[in-house]
Amino acid sequence: MQKIGRNDSCWCGSGKKYKDCHMELEEKLTRFRRQGAIVPTRALLKTSEQIRGIKESARINVAVLDYVAAHIGPGITTAQIDLWVYEQTTRLGGIPAPLGYNGFPRSVCTSVNDQVCHGIPSENDILKEGDIINIDVSTIYNGYFSDSSRMFCIGAVSPEKKRLVDTAKQCLEIGLTEVRPWGFLGDMGQA
Ligand SMILES: [Zn+2]
Repeated sequence: MQKIGRNDSCWCGSGKKYKDCHMELEEKLTRFRRQGAIVPTRALLKTSEQIRGIKESARINVAVLDYVAAHIGPGITTAQIDLWVYEQTTRLGGIPAPLGYNGFPRSVCTSVNDQVCHGIPSENDILKEGDIINIDVSTIYNGYFSDSSRMFCIGAVSPEKKRLVDTAKQCLEIGLTEVRPWGFLGDMGQA
């Protein structure tokens, strides 16, 4: 790591002095590294400006899913959901991240029933009562990415499907309790 004085301005571009910004964190990181821990590099440490950018992107991402939640139901095709995601994302100034990614033809992934993930929206997939669907929205705004997905139960679903969706949600929440400073991404999966 580049040598930097306490009173120099911080490498992160915040405009603050190093001692008032990343110094304490990096001293801690150095201590952990000496103890043999794996610690993040500077490239992984987000600046407050970057975190603000990610949050702005996430606001659009969530608004798009809220729009889908308010309109989804039996008789809707997954192509219609794709159009909603495209329209709402661009209306809010964002770009749907999946569109054109490695040739992906649509703006969202829609995975119905036993499709695990990354389903491609289609005019031929019409949602019906009893279906479950995962809608996975990824958004780019001002160069910042955000990504979240939700499960939707269409009308009344079988007890088996209901249990699957509820259990997966519980597992997600248990995983999220492991999100904390100095935790590993793998802690979430393990939980
Ligand atoms: Zn800093």
